[in-house]
Amino acid sequence: TWSLYQRHEAAVQMVNGAASLNLEKNFIPLAALHIGIWIAGLAGIVYCKKRTKKHEERILKSNIRMEAILDSIQSGVLLIDAESHTILDANPAACAILGVEKEAVTGKRCDSSIGIFDNENCQAEKKEKAVYNTEVEVIRGNGKRAYIIQTVTPISIENYPYILVSFNDISERKQMEIDMKRLNSELEQAIITAEALKTKAEAASSAKSQFLSNMSHEIRTPMNGMIGITEILSGTGLTNEQRELLEIIRSSGNALLTIVNDILDYSKFEAGRFTLENIDFDLRSAMEEVNDLLSEKAKEKGLEYISNISPDVPSLLRGDPGRIRQVIINLISNAIKFTKQGKIQFEVSLISESKSNAVIQFSVMDTGIGIPHDKQAMIFDSFVQVDGSNTRRYGGTGLGLAISKQITEMMGGEIGLESDEGKGSRFRVILTLERQREKDKSAVSISASLKEKRVLIVSDTETGRNCLMDYMNKWGCAYGAASDAPGALEELRFAHDCKSPYEIAIIDLQLSDMDGEALGANIKKDPDLKNINLIMLASHGCRGDAARVKNSGFSAYLTKPVDEAQLYECLSIITDRKREMKRESPVEIITRHSISEDKKRRLRILVAEDDTINQKIIISIMAKIGYMAKVVINGHEAIRALEQESYDLVLMDCQMPVMDGYEATAIIRSMDSKVKDHDVPVIALTGHALDGDMEKFIKAGLDDYLSKPVKPQELADMIDKWLSKQEPVQDKEVTAVNMDTEDDVFDLSVLMSNFSEEKSLINNILNDFCEYLPDKLSALKDACAKNDSHLVKHEAHALKGSSGNIGAIALQKIARQIENWAKSGDITGIDTLITQLDEQSEILLTAIKGLLSQE
Ligand code: ADP
Repeated sequence: TWSLYQRHEAAVQMVNGAASLNLEKNFIPLAALHIGIWIAGLAGIVYCKKRTKKHEERILKSNIRMEAILDSIQSGVLLIDAESHTILDANPAACAILGVEKEAVTGKRCDSSIGIFDNENCQAEKKEKAVYNTEVEVIRGNGKRAYIIQTVTPISIENYPYILVSFNDISERKQMEIDMKRLNSELEQAIITAEALKTKAEAASSAKSQFLSNMSHEIRTPMNGMIGITEILSGTGLTNEQRELLEIIRSSGNALLTIVNDILDYSKFEAGRFTLENIDFDLRSAMEEVNDLLSEKAKEKGLEYISNISPDVPSLLRGDPGRIRQVIINLISNAIKFTKQGKIQFEVSLISESKSNAVIQFSVMDTGIGIPHDKQAMIFDSFVQVDGSNTRRYGGTGLGLAISKQITEMMGGEIGLESDEGKGSRFRVILTLERQREKDKSAVSISASLKEKRVLIVSDTETGRNCLMDYMNKWGCAYGAASDAPGALEELRFAHDCKSPYEIAIIDLQLSDMDGEALGANIKKDPDLKNINLIMLASHGCRGDAARVKNSGFSAYLTKPVDEAQLYECLSIITDRKREMKRESPVEIITRHSISEDKKRRLRILVAEDDTINQKIIISIMAKIGYMAKVVINGHEAIRALEQESYDLVLMDCQMPVMDGYEATAIIRSMDSKVKDHDVPVIALTGHALDGDMEKFIKAGLDDYLSKPVKPQELADMIDKWLSKQEPVQDKEVTAVNMDTEDDVFDLSVLMSNFSEEKSLINNILNDFCEYLPDKLSALKDACAKNDSHLVKHEAHALKGSSGNIGAIALQKIARQIENWAKSGDITGIDTLITQLDEQSEILLTAIKGLLSQE
């Protein structure tokens, strides 16, 4: 019913509409547009020819062309009655895209069942303008979804409104977009899940670490208790058999503790929780501790143990001394374990150095079983042993080298080995260590109580006077000196007359004209001088001397060589006593024993420890070495105690209920807390592997740490280390004084108390000592001949310990002086002390042999 013109006009509009679709793909070529224009032109001509037949033919032709175009065009085109919304025409592409037959569409109302035009149509209708390129979802004839992009154009043909819809199928692209969106959202979901898993894993890891830390504490506490109890038991009266059994318990306990520590270290690596500290340390001291620990073990096995630290290796370095020690101890322990005969040689040498760093090689060589070439690479793996069979002869976990490798590599170093089966092995560790920065050497604080004190030194030898004068100078005393008794009396009276009397006189027992005791008695007889405090300096101590000189009016009795710290302490006690005016009556005479007892008794030590067994162990060790301590059970109690009174030292367990050691220490150090002394030395009590990081302690305000199980000697050394700091003792200034060294040659009571009065054991020890002493002396002399101060120090240290253990006090004292002297690195002039040592050794050996022959 449409006129030809209408059809033509619609065709032109449809073609234009299709052309307006702005698509990337299947886009109607420009040519179509041109065709449209051309057709329009043509139609115009036809129209102008006033519908002549010819024109009609042309229009017909044009229509045919138009239909051909519409039929072949890839965009869908629909013509809709704008009034009734009836679809008037649809091209084949439209039918194909919508998946319907033409008949099923034309004549139908376009509605949501086709879903294609609704809103846009209305809009277009209202606004009377085209709506371009909207994306619409439609339901195809087969019920499936499709996506189209459409342009809706209101048109008017012969003043009648139509709607032209042209569209293209974009289902494929849309599907891709949908897939992409889904993928993206899946990805986002995956990220969220991963984040959640990460948080969970972190929580699990921290729980694992916490568990490890707790487990470590739980395992170690009873182990430490057991090992500590063996220490106490060993000091009680035991039969030989009991002692041997106790030794087995102790060594098995230590072995178990080592394994627990190894496993914990390994787990820490696994959990990524293994950390290193970076602190100042003395490499020589650290390596000496290793030697002290292991040389005896090697010797017990009949192996020669040689240790040498090359003189050019710098001592003052920065790093993690505990972990370096751990690696070296592991290597040397292995060397001892896998060597039946021959020697273990430990060497530390310098590879290169700069201002800031030193590259140091630690080498451990043995003459043991060696390691086959094909096994050398794998022994650094965890749980690997050359002999992994059930019948293996050597114990161990196969973790030591794996841990050593990890530690070394964490320090940026390397570990390697050379070995020949049956001949021996050489393990090498190379580390680059930071050198310490130059520090201000802080001046030793001098107690104000000795400053300006008027002291007279009376000695007939120049060396004796000079030595004492040096001390007086150092302590800021106002001193005078006299070389004989008349000179001394004259000086004392003169000072009295000048109204600047002496307060103390230090008198040598042996004076050329009158003995010191008589001089003392004369001073005490003089009413002007009788208040002067007298100190007797005897060349050798004889039993009963102290009591006798006390009766002569002396306040103190010391023996030569005079120990600087002892003399200082003695002068301080006298000064303090003078200050306490109530104590007018004669008091106990001060001797070296009373000085050390007094010093120990005056110290206030606080122990914060929650475990009752550990408390008992520490208190009994303290009592044994002469100290008393107050015990509290947690950090909170410790703070309360420290608020009530000042202490000289605090031993603080790190892990305690209510308040742990770290928190308590932080409170002690905080100026806001009511603790009386914020600077009190706080020593951490800790298990080795878990909490051994010094850096952490220092950060927490702790000063040092003691590993559990606490050993008597270590505790004594630690107390000494922190409390001797209060004294103005400077190692290097130790000077030999003239003396006849018969001073307490040998105190049997020390041996008796150390070894529970067991005669046979004591005799064995003394016999061994008689063999040991000449060897030690010659080793010491060799070291002096080589001018090796470090070795001198080492030998003297060993001699000091062994002579102290048997009660050879005089020998111990000389050995200590030699050790202190050698610490300075310069041993020129040490010969005097070596001669004294020789002489004293002779005296001692004669005394011991005499004693043994009486048995
Ligand atoms: P462990 O000694 O506990 O078995 P390590 O990791 O320290 O574990 O050592 C792994 C293995 O390497 C040892 O079991 C031993 O077979 C071998 N090994 C280590 N050091 C030596 C050595 N000095 N001589 C011979 N074999 C050694």
